[in-house]
Amino acid sequence: MAQRDYYEVLGVQRDSTTTDIKKAYRQLALKYHPDRNPGDAEAENNFKEASEAYSVLGDEEKRRIYDRYGIDGLRNSSRGFGDFSNFSDSVFSGFEDILGSFFGFGGGGGQSRGSRRGRDIGIEVNITLEEAYNGIEKELEVKREKNCDICDGSGSEPGRPAEPCRQCGGTGQTRVTHGFFSIAQTCPVCSGAGKVIRHPCETCHGKGRVPETRHIKVNIPAGVDKGNRLRITGEGEGGVKGGRSGDLYAIINIEEDNKYKRDSSDLIYELDITFAQAALGDEIKIDTFWGHEKIKIHPESQNRKILRIKGKGFKNLNGWGKGDFIVILNVITPTNLSKKEKELFRQLREIEQEKHKEPVKESSRFF
Ligand SMILES: [Zn+2]
Ligand SMILES: [Zn+2]
Repeated sequence: MAQRDYYEVLGVQRDSTTTDIKKAYRQLALKYHPDRNPGDAEAENNFKEASEAYSVLGDEEKRRIYDRYGIDGLRNSSRGFGDFSNFSDSVFSGFEDILGSFFGFGGGGGQSRGSRRGRDIGIEVNITLEEAYNGIEKELEVKREKNCDICDGSGSEPGRPAEPCRQCGGTGQTRVTHGFFSIAQTCPVCSGAGKVIRHPCETCHGKGRVPETRHIKVNIPAGVDKGNRLRITGEGEGGVKGGRSGDLYAIINIEEDNKYKRDSSDLIYELDITFAQAALGDEIKIDTFWGHEKIKIHPESQNRKILRIKGKGFKNLNGWGKGDFIVILNVITPTNLSKKEKELFRQLREIEQEKHKEPVKESSRFF
């Protein structure tokens, strides 16, 4: 193969910065990476060519030598490469730190051979305050990935199994020579699997995984609170190569209620009452999450008075008992007074003034 100019290979100008060179290489490497082009010899070639160009242009010292003396200068240089015949192996040095996070290699390469537990999935579940109070069964739609049944997760068409990787001879590791040292590294062609898929499974496109949507019924217990996580074992992502499935977490979110509030395990309700009800007392029936509840207002109740009804709050999720139902009296000043009402209030004021003997000071003026 005729040696192409390294700048041409990466499609960059001769005066490009190292950052631009790195960027150009990354794009080419992602495009031609063997994982994305299984069985495509041309892509593999382009990938190697780009990697080789980058191994020189990405290194300031080597780039300087290359600029002055060309490829022969590098061959004759005693620095860095030593034996140039190892060049094709060493093109991948520096590869891991550029692409490592993208393809997930480096370190955990051995894992891709064996079985792995599926990932956990979290799903937010919106419920009303009433549903949180009483508990409810909800059906969740869960989108997850599972093993491809057609290829049994191998990624290869049935009957056409993956072939041993030529780059690493099936070991999943390549050796990279740095001067006198030789370092074992995850094989960049097969990502450590030791095998290369030549005939990708048509169902999963070689991934060994397929998406699926499941409808799962979840019993949300009475008393759940915002942010509670319910674990549904085994309903997360499917395991890899026989590994067990991950878990599904239903994360509870409770919608605001316009009548009721929650304070820990207490249920809070603000009850609007009139002046007359506050003064004379009353019995009021209100709709609650458990049916009707009779609220007894004692005569001469003050505004913001708190009535506590024991044991009618939220169930305690992790133990015995329940919180309380708390009713806060909210005395409303009447508006749109009729003539009659005004007359009665005037009479009331006269009685009040007489009762207090001395007239009420208009202290409000000072505030
Ligand atoms: Zn390999
Ligand atoms: Zn498949």
